Amino acid sequence: MTKNKSSLNLKKIRSDFPILKQLIGKKILIYLDNASTSQKPKSVLEAIQKYYSEYNANIHRSLYDFGEKATTAFEKTRSKVAKFIKAPDKHSIIFTKGTTESINLVAYAWGRKFLKPGDEILITEMEHHSNNVPWQLCAQATGALLKYIPLTKKGTLNLKNLQKYFNPQTKIVSIIHQSNVLGTINPLEKIIKEARKVDALTFIDAAQSAPHLALDVQKLNCDFLAFSGHKMLGPTGVGVLYGKKEILEIMDPFISGGEMIKAVTKQKVTFNDLPWKFEGGTSNIAQVIGLGAALDYLNKIGLDNIYKYEQELTAYALKEMKKIPELTIYGSPPQRGGVISFNLTGVHPHDLAQIVNEEGIALRAGHHCAQPLMKKLNVAATARISFYFYNTKTEIDLLIKALKKVIKFIN
Ligand code: PMP
Repeated sequence: MTKNKSSLNLKKIRSDFPILKQLIGKKILIYLDNASTSQKPKSVLEAIQKYYSEYNANIHRSLYDFGEKATTAFEKTRSKVAKFIKAPDKHSIIFTKGTTESINLVAYAWGRKFLKPGDEILITEMEHHSNNVPWQLCAQATGALLKYIPLTKKGTLNLKNLQKYFNPQTKIVSIIHQSNVLGTINPLEKIIKEARKVDALTFIDAAQSAPHLALDVQKLNCDFLAFSGHKMLGPTGVGVLYGKKEILEIMDPFISGGEMIKAVTKQKVTFNDLPWKFEGGTSNIAQVIGLGAALDYLNKIGLDNIYKYEQELTAYALKEMKKIPELTIYGSPPQRGGVISFNLTGVHPHDLAQIVNEEGIALRAGHHCAQPLMKKLNVAATARISFYFYNTKTEIDLLIKALKKVIKFIN
């Protein structure tokens, strides 16, 4: 295994992920689709297994021993999440199904209640559909106007004269932190500062950043932030919405039913306290417990070490990819994470993905749920590789070799 300059023990790390030993045909799996979903370490799989085999019970209302144990494990994860993003209070952490649901929650429970015709919602041209479609629907329902911060040729946000996108009608700004297509890391502080000047709320889609870099919601001073457990070693079916308590308090519930009430009569309902007001129905208990184990694992490795190592991997991959004349990389942002979109001249990205699959390489091809961005880049689709801290330079070398083989095969 090629040596890395950072302090990660890759041999040990890789041994924690059973799937990384998988063979694809006769080749060992090279998993480069981490922006889509990450792989899971044994400790996460074991935490889920342990819950189901040792203390499976519904939470918050079971008075027997293992019911209380399940409630404690579930609520302990809430505290871990709060600590992970430096939230001031665990009651500002709401468990959802994922980033998509978190954004929908705010677009419905805040947007439908407070937006009116003439108000403005500001997003960017690089959003994932999850941070675009809910706002389009919200704008249609309320008469608000949806506006976009445009992109530069480098694949960064065009922040020249940033103030011109803001006015007293701007009520919420919702921005992707790290692009799932270009890897661009956006300067949130600058945008949040501008939003504050017109009293607009700020929502951060941290689906692609929370797994890779340390977040501090208090320092950022954002009003909402969302991410998905499955992209950061946790299981699918669990995500997080952080919100400032005073804003969450004045919002109506999103999903109603059991759990989210304090009292119900035939004609009247009073809602539960935060955060349970937003967690109607039986929660995703096993998934939340799995997310808790994932956060323990990430904390053990250290987000700063993860970021540093992935920067190293990304720089190496970019250097090697740029040596291939037939290869076009989309975007050249100065601050970026480990996501690289590219195409090979004359090769459809779907064909590329299928051919490298023969070499055991899993990468993504398509529009990456960002069709307005694809339109801006003037392509229908791209191939995309994305790293996590268990990837290695050796895997990048094998990818480069496979790409050269594709070029030879096609021509
Ligand atoms: N935002 C971004 C930037 C993403 O990359 C993704 C997932 N690809 C999402 C939102 C949606 O996340 P989920 O599907 O887990 O809800």
